[in-house]
Amino acid sequence: MQLPREVIVGHGAIERVAEVSRRLGFHRSALIIAGSKTYDIAAKRVKELLEEKEGMTVDTFLIETAMMKDVQAVETEIKSLKPQIVFGVGGGTKIDVAKCSSARQAIPFISVPTTASHDGIASPVSSIKDFEKPYSVMAEAPLAIIADTNIIMRAPWRFAVSGCEDVIAKFTAVRDWKLAHEEKGEYFGGYAASLALMSAKHVIQNVQLMKSENEEGLRILIEALISCGVSMSIAGSSRPCSGSEHLFGHALDVIRPNHSLHGERCGVGTIMMAYLLGQDWKRIRDALRNLGAPINAQELGVEKKEVLRALEMAATIRPERYTILNKLNLCKEGYEHLAKVTEVI
Ligand SMILES: [Zn+2]
Repeated sequence: MQLPREVIVGHGAIERVAEVSRRLGFHRSALIIAGSKTYDIAAKRVKELLEEKEGMTVDTFLIETAMMKDVQAVETEIKSLKPQIVFGVGGGTKIDVAKCSSARQAIPFISVPTTASHDGIASPVSSIKDFEKPYSVMAEAPLAIIADTNIIMRAPWRFAVSGCEDVIAKFTAVRDWKLAHEEKGEYFGGYAASLALMSAKHVIQNVQLMKSENEEGLRILIEALISCGVSMSIAGSSRPCSGSEHLFGHALDVIRPNHSLHGERCGVGTIMMAYLLGQDWKRIRDALRNLGAPINAQELGVEKKEVLRALEMAATIRPERYTILNKLNLCKEGYEHLAKVTEVI
């Protein structure tokens, strides 16, 4: 089990980056992975603080996508610069690449998220796209997470809503995990499952606080996302956080690449998979609606036939991951009925 050693969440948390780095024993050199936008938003400040307060040698490497070629480029950079520590500063892609490349080079990694759009900010799993097919790679949990709510607040609120949806998706993910345990004898960790589930309940209970400009709501969301990341560290896989709803989301991303946010796709998937799992899918749908999240194909900006294709493709995305989709093995008409009855199409 690998858990983060320091988690700092709050207004102005980024100002403590040098102090955290020193406490963890890194005071000589660092490599910052960021995007061109997140460089201005946060990475520049991280670099200044490390250089000025600790006198560290700090290099920066900018990336724009999370493909295998980006991971390899960062690995080359790590090999030549030999930094003590890698910082991933940005939203999903930058953190995914920093996490994956640092783990492959056995260098510790600190996560500095600039959005709260999914649970990758704290998880040991990297989502890397290759040949246009997204897949998850087990990497290492971040050694520290520094989440500055003042910076994250500046991102469009849609990103935070996506984060809420990614947390709510744990209702179906955990149920799928339990199903795999009951039917296939797969390892099931009750503690990891409870932790992921508790985060989902916490977000649903606080939906009213999840409004833009509300830093308290954002803090609750970030803590929930971090707890989800920790649940994956405890489980040793993404099982507590990713089930059939994520498979649907990944399939839709293959069909319409980069068209919607991760949480948005998974949120719509959660509504449908909750129905298949016999859960209170209407409650989940209503919570998503209250958040202002898309709840059907039209709001997601995709065509009905794309939703149906994604449903058919979902179980093939990750064949080793047993979910309700394998158990039911629905035909085309079955998926159409599912999408219609849940009012997704
Ligand atoms: Zn997710």
